[in-house]
Amino acid sequence: MSLKSLFERMNERVQDPSVEIGNLLLEQEETRPPEKLRAMIQHLIPRDALFATFLLKCRFIKNHPDVQTAGVNIQNGKINFYYNEAFISKFPPEVLMFIIAHEFYHIARLHLDRAARRKLRNDLYNVAGDMIINENILSELKSVAGLALKMPGGEDAGLRIDKGYAKKVKDSKLWTTEGLYKHLEKDQKKKQKGQPKPPSKKDLMVQGRVVRIGDDDKYGVIEKVNKDGTYKTKPISKAEAKKRVKPA
Ligand SMILES: [Zn+2]
Repeated sequence: MSLKSLFERMNERVQDPSVEIGNLLLEQEETRPPEKLRAMIQHLIPRDALFATFLLKCRFIKNHPDVQTAGVNIQNGKINFYYNEAFISKFPPEVLMFIIAHEFYHIARLHLDRAARRKLRNDLYNVAGDMIINENILSELKSVAGLALKMPGGEDAGLRIDKGYAKKVKDSKLWTTEGLYKHLEKDQKKKQKGQPKPPSKKDLMVQGRVVRIGDDDKYGVIEKVNKDGTYKTKPISKAEAKKRVKPA
């Protein structure tokens, strides 16, 4: 269906309430939206043409193994809207509409193209995109078609704009997903640097430690560690070694 004919039929629907929305949705056959989203489309058609059109142009794909919540991508010029049935089914319309707006913004802001074109890490770019989208919905969009939008799990559920980035870029109009991505990446590298290194084999060789000698079932306790890393052991029985080794 072309966008023009879709708009014509939508107008028809607004002027003549007897025109059945079901006819529009039936044309999408096996990728038809689930009942809950169909009800949302019916609510949106006379009230918000932008989001109604977005949903009418999507192919809905249920329970994809990689999608535990909801997600979108574009394949062969068509928008795929992935959703987990259990995830979608538990929410009231205000939360459902938040999810729809969130997915719409990923498409409208070309997030997938931008990450691919710049060869950025998809996972981190997605986090940055999610943060900016969620913040924008809650602070600017706020409501759609009479529904006051609510974030799944509540406003403190996470993936809000990173406070360090917000401080750095004081004007929210200047927030960019790329800018936030760089900030998050830097932050992540810093955290990794500060983490203690796993102990080396040499660090583990300390007095009193139980060691296995060679490949045999022989054990010993380290008595003395030399400067070059070699050590002297006192032999002990297997039973004694077992007793001395504490579970990690
Ligand atoms: Zn997202």
